[in-house]
Amino acid sequence: MKIVLATGNQDKIKEIEAIMSNIDVTLVRPDAFWGMPDVVEDGSTLKENALKKAREIRDFTGCCALADDTGLEVEALGGAPGVRSSRYAGEHVTYDDNNQKLLHDLDGVPVDRRTACFRCVMALALVSEVGEELYARMIAGNETDAQVALAESGRPDALVTEGILEGRIALAKRGQDGFGFDPLFEIPSLGETLAEMGLRRKNQISHRYRALVEMRELLTRWKLAPER
Ligand code: IMP
Repeated sequence: MKIVLATGNQDKIKEIEAIMSNIDVTLVRPDAFWGMPDVVEDGSTLKENALKKAREIRDFTGCCALADDTGLEVEALGGAPGVRSSRYAGEHVTYDDNNQKLLHDLDGVPVDRRTACFRCVMALALVSEVGEELYARMIAGNETDAQVALAESGRPDALVTEGILEGRIALAKRGQDGFGFDPLFEIPSLGETLAEMGLRRKNQISHRYRALVEMRELLTRWKLAPER
């Protein structure tokens, strides 16, 4: 199966390619297509945004398309920044602006109350032939699947999975690797931030890894992509 990655974020592309390397799918980077639309993430949930991105890129390219939307949820902030994570400090801000705001908003909050999680929702929009294949199998087995999203026609047109990584927000940034909130996101059992762990070890536990593994299981369970 040919899958276009519906993200221009080079950090995420590298991470997804590394994680998916042992699955029998062909991943195509978005820059292989000219004039790829820049999808506006205006949904009120991660799932809405991930599905919107995946479906728009599928419709533009004519290929199955994989998109994710990730949010950082901080307990002491009532689950913020959540779906607004990339715009936490405002529009067109840097990763560092967001990290500085997070430290500022948690100023004075003790270590044991700085629990947080990354939530990643992954959506794979299916081209109609694949959607129909899936529909036929669901009908034949008289099965439903909460991870199958339906198009307006009522036919399956996407798969949706979720991965969560639990941790806490450190008191200061640590580590050089990764991106986004990685220097502030600490795994308590390891005593390291994701930026200290490096890409290889992060990829073995990350929210995106967990959502992708679930996606691989779904593709296998519904016989849409053979195992290598
Ligand atoms: P997106 O909407 O999926 O691009 O993610 C929203 C924001 O969450 C990004 O701008 C990053 O700041 C942050 N983010 C997403 N994934 C990660 C990650 O794996 N590590 C650190 N920050 C992340």
